Amino acid sequence: MKIGIDIGGSHIGIALVNEYGKIIEKSEADIENMENVENFIESRIVKFVEANRDNGKWGNNLSEIEMIGIAAPGIPRDGKIFSMCNLGIKELDISAMLRKHYNLPIRIRNDGKCAALAEKKYGSLKEYDDCVFLCLGTGIGAGVFLQGKLLKAGRAPGFEIGHLVIEKDGIQCKCGKKGCFETYCSMKRFKDNVKKLANLPDEISSIELLDYLKKHQDEKKFAKLIDEYIDNLIIGFSNLIDIFEPEAIALGGSFVHFKDVFFEKLQKKFYNEKYAFNSEFMPELKLAVLGNDAGIIGATIEE
Ligand SMILES: [Zn+2]
Repeated sequence: MKIGIDIGGSHIGIALVNEYGKIIEKSEADIENMENVENFIESRIVKFVEANRDNGKWGNNLSEIEMIGIAAPGIPRDGKIFSMCNLGIKELDISAMLRKHYNLPIRIRNDGKCAALAEKKYGSLKEYDDCVFLCLGTGIGAGVFLQGKLLKAGRAPGFEIGHLVIEKDGIQCKCGKKGCFETYCSMKRFKDNVKKLANLPDEISSIELLDYLKKHQDEKKFAKLIDEYIDNLIIGFSNLIDIFEPEAIALGGSFVHFKDVFFEKLQKKFYNEKYAFNSEFMPELKLAVLGNDAGIIGATIEE
């Protein structure tokens, strides 16, 4: 048994994950707009472990727990997490925080890489050796596998595919560059554009937004927005295909909820025009299947 923790841009999930990557018990909470996020994260984890210990889930001690795996946005390094921009945290020493309570191995990975590992081992990409996972959500997270192995750069997580430039002098990105892939193709950007175009309130839920879009998707202005999104997405794919020649590209994050709006149009365009230098190596397009659990499950996977 392992403990998986997923610290997202707006929520935390903590779970017990068994040896087959199945979630046995899970607890989730919002952490958006919170004054002391660090304290909250610590107390959520401690309470979760205590509650499950009291349930007798692992026989009154921690000996059945092999490790704690953490999926986090930002840059994990030396047991700490740096630059969690969406939570306003510059540096979180999560290893020190957890060592106060538990004497267990701790591993921290970038959340996009965790989701990629989970989809590769248990989900949409398990049948492919060479493949790319893109998490289209608040930003774009990614993991690239060649010959079954997750590719890693030495100094930082690397493979910041969300920050490939797809437009010269394009939209200003939070990273400081202009024209980054995620400033055109994150789901956050797409949803913001729909809200603006439809004069919808900022606080509208994702489900209501999707309902609205399904009803209006054939109107000219929305059809154009969807087409532009797909065009930009394919520019990103095209660059990835020519570098990695993947057998499959899987799309996760909140993109999956919007599949009825995008996926058919995306496939039609993608396979009917030329986007790969070697046209015979066009990858399959897949939808992620593990949903929000991918980060937690991936956090516990050994590479
Ligand atoms: Zn960027």
